Amino acid sequence: MANDLILYNSLSRRKEIFKPIQEEDIRLYVCGPTVYDRAHIGNARPVLVFDLLYRLLRNIYGKENVNYVRNFTDVDDKINEKAREKKVKINEITEETIKWFHEDMDQLEALRPTSEPRATNYISQMITMIVELISKAYAYPTEDGHVFFSVEKFDEYGRLSNKDLDELVTGSRIENEESKKNPLDFVLWKPSNSEEPGWDSPWGFGRPGWHIECSAMSRDLLGENFDIHGGGIDLIFPHHENEIAQSVCASKGKNFANFWLHNGYLMLEGEKMSKSLNNFITVKELIENDFSGQAIRYVMLSTHYRQPINWTYKRLREAEKILEKWSSLKTLDDRSNVIPQPVFRALLDDLNSPLAISEIHKMFNSGNLIDANESCTFFGFNLNGSKKKNNVGPQIAGKITHLLEKRKEARIKKDFATADKIRENLLLAGVEIKDNEDKTSWKIKDNFIKEKLENL
Ligand SMILES: [Zn+2]
Repeated sequence: MANDLILYNSLSRRKEIFKPIQEEDIRLYVCGPTVYDRAHIGNARPVLVFDLLYRLLRNIYGKENVNYVRNFTDVDDKINEKAREKKVKINEITEETIKWFHEDMDQLEALRPTSEPRATNYISQMITMIVELISKAYAYPTEDGHVFFSVEKFDEYGRLSNKDLDELVTGSRIENEESKKNPLDFVLWKPSNSEEPGWDSPWGFGRPGWHIECSAMSRDLLGENFDIHGGGIDLIFPHHENEIAQSVCASKGKNFANFWLHNGYLMLEGEKMSKSLNNFITVKELIENDFSGQAIRYVMLSTHYRQPINWTYKRLREAEKILEKWSSLKTLDDRSNVIPQPVFRALLDDLNSPLAISEIHKMFNSGNLIDANESCTFFGFNLNGSKKKNNVGPQIAGKITHLLEKRKEARIKKDFATADKIRENLLLAGVEIKDNEDKTSWKIKDNFIKEKLENL
């Protein structure tokens, strides 16, 4: 039918008509962040992709009928490491990071999900699930306090990633626990020492593996069988493959998620984003450098969610200009909550947001401002004015960014005289800069003089 929602299902590897289990209770689960650091733009991509899907589902089935769960992984070795490094308690790290995550995603106009469960509040549900898996012989405890899932027991293992067991063995990084029966077996529970977070369990003091968290939280909040499970493409193997194995085996063959949706990779200026190579940008950094959350949102949604995205400053600056132009065309008329047809039809076809955005351009260009404004409202492009921190416009922001890049180059070459001169000149023009670890942010002061900056 013309008004069917079509989604590409990673499980069948084809587009399918989305048929909800219950129209008045649409259930969506998306894997959320592990909370130990500021969100980078790669973390923002699934948030924005599934925010668009959430908005579309609410529009089709009714606001109160969509249940969207996105978890926080707040128990993980990376968190423990960060706490050790900073000499603070683990929950100080997780609390602070969750607060930051909310702040940053709010800037991007992402709606908050219906529930945002924290893994540490679901330990008993995880233990229950592991007990069930052991009793059905899908999992086994070892002498040293681990529990593993036995992948050979699950015939469909590898279905989502479309690989057989032999391929997976040669292609996977084998973890070093020696007590496993099969190298692909994955951990459900592991022992903790006195410095690590842990809970009492039938297998001793320990903590859950990552994969069981999502299986337990989704079952508790959405049931054994729900509509859509989403996440980044990098989660297909092993994370989602393992979630399926655990959930299907614990639930006597129920389907778990009917649809699996995955967003593509994000590249930064043509290179792989990597924390270890220091090639990454955080959302906060962009906002502090006077880019608007909406421009970030625009760039992210102007690429189809399944395609890889090449993130560049050039695209971000172009997005700022488009949104600025659109704001000047804002009308006060607001009809209803309907999505204008051309945009709606594009989105029904596997969330074709680039096509939908090109339809918005057409509307503005042809003077159809009411439809254009309504489409922008649906997309979360708030044309009511800028929320930017400094609000100096893309040209000035671009100039400052350029000078900061020159300063960075000078510092790398150990030409500190040039680097200091740039800082001084900026300060004289009324731009204060602040170095924070290896990132630099800037702020417009009251004595800012535009002409002075332009002449630098
Ligand atoms: Zn997950």
